[in-house]
Amino acid sequence: MKKIGILTTGGDAPGMNAAIRAVVRTALGSGLSVTGIERGFSGLHDKAFMELDSRSVSGIINKGGTFLKTIRFPEFKEKDIRRKSYENLKEAGIEGLVVIGGDGSARGACALSGDFGFPTVLIPASIDNDLYGTDFTVGFDTAVNTAVSAIDKIRDTATSHERTFIVEVMGREKGNFAVEAAVACGAEIVMIPEVPADWHKVAEALREQAAIGKTSSIIIMAEGAGRADELTRFLQEKLPKRQIRYSVLGYIQRGGNPTYMTRVLATRFGVAAVKLLVSHEYPFMVGISGNKIVRVPLKKVVTTTRLPYLQHIDLIKSMAI
Ligand code: ADP
Repeated sequence: MKKIGILTTGGDAPGMNAAIRAVVRTALGSGLSVTGIERGFSGLHDKAFMELDSRSVSGIINKGGTFLKTIRFPEFKEKDIRRKSYENLKEAGIEGLVVIGGDGSARGACALSGDFGFPTVLIPASIDNDLYGTDFTVGFDTAVNTAVSAIDKIRDTATSHERTFIVEVMGREKGNFAVEAAVACGAEIVMIPEVPADWHKVAEALREQAAIGKTSSIIIMAEGAGRADELTRFLQEKLPKRQIRYSVLGYIQRGGNPTYMTRVLATRFGVAAVKLLVSHEYPFMVGISGNKIVRVPLKKVVTTTRLPYLQHIDLIKSMAI
């Protein structure tokens, strides 16, 4: 193998740049040249290729987002679009591909390698931490820390004004983010798509908490678990004496400088991904399990559901006394 390609796709996550840097420098150190592909799978189809050297990735380990850019490209689900992309790779002399992204990106990478046997390795990068086969994805630690520091600020107001706050965090389909953020900021209740909540029971739990002297509470709600404004109206009606407010954290959770954990993980994954390609081991996702770098077949990744740490919901309940 003489030349590999690298792209970032799906939702951006802090640490994608650190992963690109690690891939580029590991590849160069192994005598390979590296082509950067801009805008994910879309750039593969449109030949948005650029050569990367060691200086191309200088000064980016500390930057959020991805300098290779990312765009949603649903067209990649069509085989003809993937065929054209494959032909572009061949034409450019690219013999292996590192895809950096989340759940959808894994499906794209799996389809490309499945159709044409193209050597492909995935680096899991997503603020959702929703991929089977790895304890953590690149970006998760950073994003949860961002949410936690925002929720800490909201808690100051909640406590001072004796209010209940519903904080909506990222997680359209998965509650991994909400659960971990809730444990870390000492929230009283967490609501996630995987465990539909009975709103009457939420009102009851708030009543019980008030009875034991908790005059303010934090409810963390994943985006996909319902609407924070509607829950606020419902609870306000049931508990007219309480002041209930909500706050939607939104896109601030996606950006920002990666934490130490994210940077180290991204660097380890980048090195491991290139090693797999060089030793002709694909299609795999690199992952981390108990602080060991592992490889997981891409097919297994895309066919297995990753649940949140549901036992952490009990942790939240047992701390809310
Ligand atoms: P993420 O990787 O963050 O979950 P997306 O779900 O947007 O983000 O997926 C990233 C990209 O992967 C999509 O824009 C699309 O180009 C490609 N993709 C997603 N699902 C598939 C699929 N089933 N087959 C082929 N390509 C896919």
